[in-house]
Amino acid sequence: MNSNDIQNFDGKYPKQLWYLFFSEMWERFCFYGMRGMLTYFMVYQMMMNKEAANLQYGATQAWVYAFTFIGGMFADKILGFKKSLFWGGILMIAGSLILMVDPKTYFFVGIAFLIVGTGFFKPNISSMVGQLYKADDNRRDAGFSLFYSGINAGAFFGGILMIGIGKGEFFSELIPQDLRWNVAFALVAIAMFISLLIFTFTRNLLGHIGDTPINYAVEKGKKWYLYAVYIGSFACIPLIIKMVSNTQYTDYFMYFIGPFSIVYLIYEMTKLTKEANFKLAAALIFIVFSSFFWAIFEQAGGSLSLYAAEHLDKGSLNLDPNFVNNSANSLFVIIFAPLVGLLWLFMHKRGLEPNSVIKFGIAFLLLGAAFYIFGINKMFATSGIAPLDIFTLGYFVVTIGEIALSPIGLSLMTKLSNAKLQGFMMGMWFLASAYGQYIAGIFGAGISPADSATAVQKLEVYSAGYIQFAWYAIVCGVVIILLSPFIRRLMGDVK
Ligand code: GLN
Repeated sequence: MNSNDIQNFDGKYPKQLWYLFFSEMWERFCFYGMRGMLTYFMVYQMMMNKEAANLQYGATQAWVYAFTFIGGMFADKILGFKKSLFWGGILMIAGSLILMVDPKTYFFVGIAFLIVGTGFFKPNISSMVGQLYKADDNRRDAGFSLFYSGINAGAFFGGILMIGIGKGEFFSELIPQDLRWNVAFALVAIAMFISLLIFTFTRNLLGHIGDTPINYAVEKGKKWYLYAVYIGSFACIPLIIKMVSNTQYTDYFMYFIGPFSIVYLIYEMTKLTKEANFKLAAALIFIVFSSFFWAIFEQAGGSLSLYAAEHLDKGSLNLDPNFVNNSANSLFVIIFAPLVGLLWLFMHKRGLEPNSVIKFGIAFLLLGAAFYIFGINKMFATSGIAPLDIFTLGYFVVTIGEIALSPIGLSLMTKLSNAKLQGFMMGMWFLASAYGQYIAGIFGAGISPADSATAVQKLEVYSAGYIQFAWYAIVCGVVIILLSPFIRRLMGDVK
């Protein structure tokens, strides 16, 4: 099948989207399954102190997303998306198997494999989704919204199941106690294996989409490029083990990689036309703003989880607040992302669809509204315990904001990037998430109350912090909306 046939599909979604949807769903199951276990495993199995475990967790997250930039870059130049995905998948399976065998001894080795593997897999599958559409196809945003539901379905089930098995909450009669973690890590390996299997059996149905940028059958002399990337990614592993286990190195890496990526982008821009450069400049503006978005949004894994543990009741459904904090977002995305996608199509048909820049602005305003809700929840509190129901409403609002930004951002990267820089720009988009995670830790630390404070005082500190974040988000939203005529001019024909 050639790419034109794929892109000329009837209906709302191309059928190839479903193959990528399921492959990504299982990859995210593996990734979020692992992510959900990390800190817990370090604290309760490896007996690390909480502060060190939090720092390691932050470093791992920052590295995962930073490596997507490297994975995207090599996909553009050498591997192509399909080969990158396959290689990333293999490394992720290897990492999970290493953890399965002896998670305590080989913890950082396994994690390093997962970091490099995700770097090759994650940005490139998103870039392939973009290539299912013609440049001017207005169904693209809806496609990314659906794909985003797949991401969150994997995140939701992986996040609950794996830690549940490790802690012995699920299948504890079937699995001997001392093997629970090994089984949990084995299952993430199986999830990744299913992801790769789906991809392997459907890759030919993607036609030329994701093929290598170099035809190695003709240019045989260049084959060593491929081997160099494979061997090079192995060679990175000992380095990453060292850097992740010593978080100070991660700081240095973060200082370096962002400026480096911008210098490299400027170098690539010197080879392009003015119009293509304007589009890349617009993409860069979206990337920078997205890192602010994630810096506030990602309080979820840090300060909000401690807030949930200490300052919320069980709500009208009698739920564990941390359970809501960890899973409400994914659940809302699964339900509402396709609906919001269809809403965009509906509005488009009536000439009412906001353009991408305004959607970004709306996302920030919703982020602000959500953190405002988190902040004012203290008004309904008794003795430092606030209602979970209102907190959940905040999560609903933040999720609609995420849906207006994150899948749209993926879609925009594929529309605004020059053909030769698709992987690189997608990598930069995720690199912004790496910075977001990194800043989130700093923001979170900035609003952590003293241990000696009373519950009421602690709630005050968190709430004042969330209201402050709400204002940051609202200011960003207003700035984006005010800048929208300028950004749209940079975007040219892209809507
Ligand atoms: N939750 C989304 C995913 O896992 C977005 C992550 C991000 O860009 N920070 O793909």
